[in-house]
Amino acid sequence: MARKNPNIIITGTPGVGKTTHAEQLARATGFTHLSVNQIVKDEGFQEGKDEETGSLIVDEDKLLDYLESLPLHSQGGYILDWHACDLFPERWIDLVIVLRCDSTILYDRLTARGYKGKKLEENMDSEIMQVLLDEAREAYKEEIVVELRSESNEDVEGNLERVEMWVEGWRRDNGGADREGEGK
Ligand code: ADP
Repeated sequence: MARKNPNIIITGTPGVGKTTHAEQLARATGFTHLSVNQIVKDEGFQEGKDEETGSLIVDEDKLLDYLESLPLHSQGGYILDWHACDLFPERWIDLVIVLRCDSTILYDRLTARGYKGKKLEENMDSEIMQVLLDEAREAYKEEIVVELRSESNEDVEGNLERVEMWVEGWRRDNGGADREGEGK
């Protein structure tokens, strides 16, 4: 494995702040932000919609083939932003960030986004029952899974600082971009 940069998953229940974090982290590090939801829509990888919740049913094989065709596993420097994480092969991934949010705050964010009924309920339950955190811990080594709070702008700032420091450390440890003058 000779990746110059790490690959990072940012996951969590819809509304926890994945896009917010991924966009800012991409700007700060120069990494490529992959909004998996957007890729699924743009590339037509959806197999349909769950009638009750309205969420997309994804053709995971097609999605993985697409990701495999990117220099993700060979060069690194990708931020994968999705509300699921366990389908990405372990060997591609160096850090899994699970964003968490208080349920009152999440409720407000999701209703502002127009979520209601079953879809709202399922996502609220998922956050309260830490479904994504458990999924991440089951799919990846414990030491690469980090749970971060995303309730305020200060949280975002603090999280980004922490992750940027982690990226610098990773590059040092892996003889990566810094040594080759590609780092910040
Ligand atoms: P996701 O990508 O996980 O669905 P978003 O990044 O789209 O979540 O965030 C959902 C909404 O919540 C947006 O309006 C965003 O500005 C807001 N938000 C997310 N995280 C925070 C935070 N830590 N502090 C303040 N607002 C936030």
